[in-house]
Amino acid sequence: ASWIDEFVTSVEGGRSPVVASGEHAERFGGQLVLVTGAGSGIGRAATLAFAEAGARVVAVDRNAEAAARTAEQSRLLGAPEAWAETVDVSDEQAMEKLAEKVTTEYGVVDVLVNNAGIGLSGSFFDTTPEDWRKVLDVNLWGVIHGCRLFGRRMAERGQGGHIVNVASAAAYQPSRALPAYSTSKAAVLMLSECLRAELAGQGIGVTAVCPGFVNTAITSTAHFAGVDAGEEKRLQKRAARLYGLRNYPPEKVARAILRAVTRDEAVVPVTPEARGARWLSRWAPGA
Ligand code: NAD
Repeated sequence: ASWIDEFVTSVEGGRSPVVASGEHAERFGGQLVLVTGAGSGIGRAATLAFAEAGARVVAVDRNAEAAARTAEQSRLLGAPEAWAETVDVSDEQAMEKLAEKVTTEYGVVDVLVNNAGIGLSGSFFDTTPEDWRKVLDVNLWGVIHGCRLFGRRMAERGQGGHIVNVASAAAYQPSRALPAYSTSKAAVLMLSECLRAELAGQGIGVTAVCPGFVNTAITSTAHFAGVDAGEEKRLQKRAARLYGLRNYPPEKVARAILRAVTRDEAVVPVTPEARGARWLSRWAPGA
């Protein structure tokens, strides 16, 4: 069966679990929503949720095939229009080109979701300068490029908008295993709060979404790179036990993203362990 068949049969009555759950009532009719890292995991789930909510969506990913698949699925789920764009978010020139193209051809983006990110594990001294650069280039610079290029156009238009940056509970929960990743996410959290303050007067909201352990490709490969399949399973089990949960689905993070836009929330810890992290209160009291 083709992926379309598989997809359609995997959703009930043509609706994905995101909306079928009845848990999100938000509507984004006619709004233009751009999601980076839309080809997989959280970005894919968020794009599909916005599509179901009536948005016109732009699915951006460095993986062309994955982006195209998400755009196609978005149309099936009711997006009035859906486009796929192949871009590496860490590439400043490519991002400039994307912003120009999107604005000219599709319009000014109403909701931007800077979600593309990569994982990297390893102790501080095992992490090479090259690794640091790789992670900061994508996880931090990708978000900076997105906010600068699309945020400025939103502000110039003067009709409000919203930016969601996908950070992580790692942003406020220190870990010996993920120093570079955690640092990149802490920077995204602070960047989001600074930009939120700057744009507050212009009707543009900025949200940092902080998921804990979510069941996607990033948690099954990147964090456990270099270990064999049996070992990976064992480590995943251990992580699940440590984090106190199993199989937290990306669709639930997508739901939190749509809700955060509607309610204009500043910092949104998503999974139970992200909400329960003892460091959270230092960063975001009252979140
Ligand atoms: P994923 O690997 O399933 O999806 C990431 C997507 O981003 C992929 O389609 C990939 O091709 C794309 N991507 C990666 N680098 C890119 C680049 N330079 N340019 C364009 N696209 C790029 O991972 P996910 O779990 O869905 O992660 C999404 C975001 O959520 C990331 O920022 C991640 O750090 C964050 N996050 C994930 C978890 C988790 O447990 N899964 C927890 C907290 C935060």
